[in-house]
Amino acid sequence: MDIEKEIEKTIKEYRLLNKSDKIVVALSGGKDSTSILYILHKLGYNVSGLLIDLYLGEWSRTHNEKMTKFCSELGVPLEIVDLKKELGQGICFIKAVLKKQKNLTGCTVCGITKRWVLNKWAKKLKADKLVTGHNLDDEAQNVLMNFMKGNILLGMNSSPATGDEEIEGFVQRVKPLFFIPESEILRYAKEKKFDILYDKCPCAFGTYRVETRAWMKELTDLEKKKIVEGFQKIVPKLRAENHREIFECKKCGQPSRSEVCNACKIFECL
Ligand code: AMP
Ligand code: ZN
Repeated sequence: MDIEKEIEKTIKEYRLLNKSDKIVVALSGGKDSTSILYILHKLGYNVSGLLIDLYLGEWSRTHNEKMTKFCSELGVPLEIVDLKKELGQGICFIKAVLKKQKNLTGCTVCGITKRWVLNKWAKKLKADKLVTGHNLDDEAQNVLMNFMKGNILLGMNSSPATGDEEIEGFVQRVKPLFFIPESEILRYAKEKKFDILYDKCPCAFGTYRVETRAWMKELTDLEKKKIVEGFQKIVPKLRAENHREIFECKKCGQPSRSEVCNACKIFECL
């Protein structure tokens, strides 16, 4: 698969990005976000990187160093946000507290925290779009996990472009790798010899997502594509029938679907 061509196709079909946009790429330092930063830059988009230092010891230090080098060689600006300066704690502490107090799983807490920090900083950097490296495998996992939880409505915002462009205070999140299998991105990153860490997050163990990822390895890329494309057919109907009002979070001012946003509910426990 020529993933550069496939990505261009997704961008065009879903009108994800314009050449005049200021695009901030959420960079974890992994193969997905590194590849999409590289490809968007190659295609002539105005990109910069945004990396949250989560304080995961040596793993975070290596990511920071490698991304600093990668972006400087590419000639792309990089902003590293220090989670301890933002919230006073590293991600491990935040996850441990939330597990104890609200029995929330690590991946859920980490996801909510990252989304909040990324939106805050994307706004600060005056971004038009915030690109993430979510790929076909991530999206197929979401569809099946939500289904097995008996709550497919959790996926109603699933799309290569979230509907957030109409919501004041949200920088629209865009996923150009939405239809690209993880295996193809891995092949691309290795072919390009990107000097990055290829390991999975050291904290991701024992969660529902990790278990789902493990058994979904049995599925082919085509089957994963059918799961994602099939679900996309019902997303417009789910959205139309379940429109929810957006408020300004009473605590942080970021947009929220309840009076206090999920992130602030988490931060209250710290
Ligand atoms: P994950 O939730 O780790 O599967 O990551 C999904 C996407 O979120 C990545 O492809 C990145 O775009 C973004 N992301 C994850 N971790 C970070 C981080 N530490 N800093 C900035 N963006 C991140
Ligand atoms: Zn809030």
